[in-house]
Amino acid sequence: MVFNCRECGTCCMHLGDYIEIERQTGEFTFECESVSTGTAFTAEVDDDKRRIFADHSFSDAHPSACRFLRPDGEHLRCTIHRDSPAQCKFYRCVVMQIADPAGRSLGTVRGTLDLHSDDPDLRAIWDTEITKKRPKSDEEAEPWIAEYLAKKGYRVL
Ligand code: SF4
Ligand code: SF4
Repeated sequence: MVFNCRECGTCCMHLGDYIEIERQTGEFTFECESVSTGTAFTAEVDDDKRRIFADHSFSDAHPSACRFLRPDGEHLRCTIHRDSPAQCKFYRCVVMQIADPAGRSLGTVRGTLDLHSDDPDLRAIWDTEITKKRPKSDEEAEPWIAEYLAKKGYRVL
């Protein structure tokens, strides 16, 4: 599945404590830390996002959200997309959508390769087969899981 971020901002809404601004060094430049990895980084607000960044009302109303998140029309956008940490750039909330042979959606697999589903049969296959047999590396596991589920008759997108 090719991942297309819809820029809904859901994943950034509770990352205010994880993307920490240490110091403002200019009108649009900041010294920051990615707390989960302990990595320091310098962020400059993207040229084309400075207008929306300048309005702080969203940040003030949502103190748990990342301080660089801003509404832009129907989207919530990262205003430091160019300088954001690697884990932000490569984050994928969903890597697989799983459906039954008729196309009825049964669940999703998240970027962390865990299953999100209420379907008991799919859950049982996941817990008793996939988690035990899958390759250890996530890179190899992702196509392996898709193929395994397809062989079981599921539609995997
Ligand atoms: S990665 Fe997913 S949750 Fe995060 S903004 Fe994109 S679509 Fe939304
Ligand atoms: S830096 Fe950007 S992508 Fe990362 S949490 Fe903040 S708004 Fe989201």
